[in-house]
Amino acid sequence: MIELASYLRGSWVSGQGAGSRLFDPVTGEAIAVARSEGLDLAGALAYLRDVGGPALRALDFEARGNLLASISKAIHAIRDELLDLSIRNTGVTRGDAKFDVDGGTATLSAYANLAKSLGKRRYFVDAPGIPLGRSPRFHGVHIKSPLRGAAVHINAFNFPIWGFAEKLACAFLAGMPVLSKPATSTALPTFRAMQAVVQNAGLPDGVLALLSGGVGSLLDHLRSQDVIAFTGSAATGRRIRGHASVIAHGVRVNIEADSLNSAVLGPDVEVGSDTWALFLREVAREVTQKSGQKCTATRRVFVPAERIEEVVEGLKDRLAEFPPGRPEDPGVRMGALATPSQFPDVLQGLKTLAESCRVAIGQVPEAVPAHGVFAPVVFVCQDPRAVRVVHDLEVFGPATTLCAYDGRASEAAALVAMGDGSLVASIYSDDLGFVGDLTLEIAPWHGRVLLGSAKIAEYSTGPGLVLPELAHGGPGRAGGGLELGGVRGLDLYLQTTAIQGSRPVLERILDFQAGN
Ligand code: NAP
Repeated sequence: MIELASYLRGSWVSGQGAGSRLFDPVTGEAIAVARSEGLDLAGALAYLRDVGGPALRALDFEARGNLLASISKAIHAIRDELLDLSIRNTGVTRGDAKFDVDGGTATLSAYANLAKSLGKRRYFVDAPGIPLGRSPRFHGVHIKSPLRGAAVHINAFNFPIWGFAEKLACAFLAGMPVLSKPATSTALPTFRAMQAVVQNAGLPDGVLALLSGGVGSLLDHLRSQDVIAFTGSAATGRRIRGHASVIAHGVRVNIEADSLNSAVLGPDVEVGSDTWALFLREVAREVTQKSGQKCTATRRVFVPAERIEEVVEGLKDRLAEFPPGRPEDPGVRMGALATPSQFPDVLQGLKTLAESCRVAIGQVPEAVPAHGVFAPVVFVCQDPRAVRVVHDLEVFGPATTLCAYDGRASEAAALVAMGDGSLVASIYSDDLGFVGDLTLEIAPWHGRVLLGSAKIAEYSTGPGLVLPELAHGGPGRAGGGLELGGVRGLDLYLQTTAIQGSRPVLERILDFQAGN
């Protein structure tokens, strides 16, 4: 069995005790073990702050970007091995494994490119600033400089490489060292990627650590200049926010939690049109990609009441293109759920939805299916105002619910808002009035809104693909966080400070020229 060591204070170390086992979800075979008990986590954080932080802050943005490019290259160099490990440890198809692995390296590369535009500076200055008094000499300016602590990244099980990479990209570029803690159940690909990064990326000492296994006492050792970026369930997010050290030291926390994302079909969209085809393609992809285990997957699809049966028929055809099965079997396009511990949760979730909604496509299995392979289930809810569970229960598997509405933008907006804040919504319509009204109504409830129309039908990457250029995160239930979004993603790791004084002094000591 593979022993997943942790990389702390520049060395590979293993904890004690029985640890936690990792399984192949398809065969049930135990494939690895991760032990974090007894590891010196306080020392690991101190090493990041004392050794890694100064090393990163000494580099300008361009040089930090070069590190990101090296990390991306080191991970890409073992791409095939990572795809195999992902299939084995997370039950995904090869295509879905690529979505995670290539998404991770592409995000690192995107931030490496962004770094070039930030140039030779080491922090941001909002030049030229603001004259403050009667004399133009008294001046104020804002700077954003990296916090002096460690960035702790706690990730969910569904994206072992992308989650590791996207958070790392923003923290490193901002100038903060990182301790990354992948979800234990799917940590094997992350562990292997980290080995490659340590060996081949040429990182300065102390800038990166990996914790394999449970979080243990890690949060107890956090201090005011540290940051937590968390992705996972809302329940764990609440536990982290309420942790005594986090509260006592005012530790900055970013939470990416679960979300009942929506798609809305406009009443103008005709069967057979480009927008109709786009709508069906994207809904089917969101149900099946990674077996629906994406935080951005579409859980609620709002359809004008009289169009529900047309959508059911259209979706049946599209979903037939994704035969589920064991990921390595030929022809399979949708794999298993990632962890055996999820199987009963998903089964229970499907049963709960079936109590209030009609099953229109597929069926709710009586028991956990063989190899953890759940076939897609599409529910229909005729009265989503009355059926609260549709807006509350995230079934983290290949399922979605078609919810009837009356075709008005205002009604669609009210129903979408019942999700209490989501990562993403998509609107499929070519009626500018409908799209305009709905977009502005639902924007405050979302981190991202995708407008699907005939004009972009052939280019759309769909709501489920998180792009490094655009913000990722959502209000309310989605956690209230923000990651990525180009340079915006660095803000979590930077302190904004207003500096006021003599303008010539500011110009001398800060990295800006008057009038820039
Ligand atoms: P989870 O059970 O909340 O675990 C997430 C991470 O938190 C894991 O690394 C876990 O470590 C760690 N953790 C557990 N207890 C902790 C504690 N007391 N203090 C600190 N960390 C702790 O979530 P999951 O089951 O892995 O992920 C599924 C959920 O994540 C879904 O609800 C999904 O919607 C959400 N998600 C959101 C996004 C997004 O970007 N918004 C992306 C992906 C997934 P162990 O594994 O060692 O227990």
